[in-house]
Amino acid sequence: CGIIGILGNHEVAPQLVESLRRLEYRGYDSAGIATVNAGRLDRRRSVGKLVNLSDLLVHEPLAGKAGIGHTRWATHGAATVGNAHPHRSGRTAVVHNGIIENFRELREELAAAGILPETQTDSETVALLTRMFMDRGLGPREAAAATLKKLEGAFALLWLFEGEDDLMIAARKGSPLAIGHGTGEMFVGSDAIALAPLTDRITYLEEGDYAFVTRAGAEIFDAEGRRANRDELRIDLGA
Ligand code: GLU
Repeated sequence: CGIIGILGNHEVAPQLVESLRRLEYRGYDSAGIATVNAGRLDRRRSVGKLVNLSDLLVHEPLAGKAGIGHTRWATHGAATVGNAHPHRSGRTAVVHNGIIENFRELREELAAAGILPETQTDSETVALLTRMFMDRGLGPREAAAATLKKLEGAFALLWLFEGEDDLMIAARKGSPLAIGHGTGEMFVGSDAIALAPLTDRITYLEEGDYAFVTRAGAEIFDAEGRRANRDELRIDLGA
């Protein structure tokens, strides 16, 4: 239901949780974050209030300067830890807002490739497809773009990758997503409110857009895969 991503200059886990707190108003039943630390992708998830996630992080901290986070409002699959985002498969972790309408067909295609779901969610299908494409030799950018072509429904998506400390991939179709510009830092959020304490420089993705985000900036593409220029706005929401 809520998405946050940070490519930062210091430990991101506390910032991710703080941003998820700002997204609480949207409602949620579980929450989770993933980070990349010295190339290693890892995640923590919990059911219920965000305090459960922050308590878990006290006992099982998650280091790293790159990370993504999610508050889930379950549509497919019960509110369990296993169904909470980020969803992980192979070298990728994904958070998703919305619904992947054709996830049952996609599951059949994945099963034919020997890749089986481990959750009851529609969202996990995105991670599984990306993993399938990476298994076939595609890099993260190409794998995410190939995955997007297969998805039907409404979504905002954010990917993080093992071995990639300086890359997030964001996509928007039917569900808003904003990119935040910092100084040597970049952010992605499901709305400007989530990003307000981090930056006031925002670029909204347009319908069908996807973006390769690094600390140097964001490369944005339209639904046809053409480079797209989207305005950077200054917004004042009061941090
Ligand atoms: N359909 C997804 C799920 O049930 C995402 C729901 C959301 O937007 O939080 O896990």
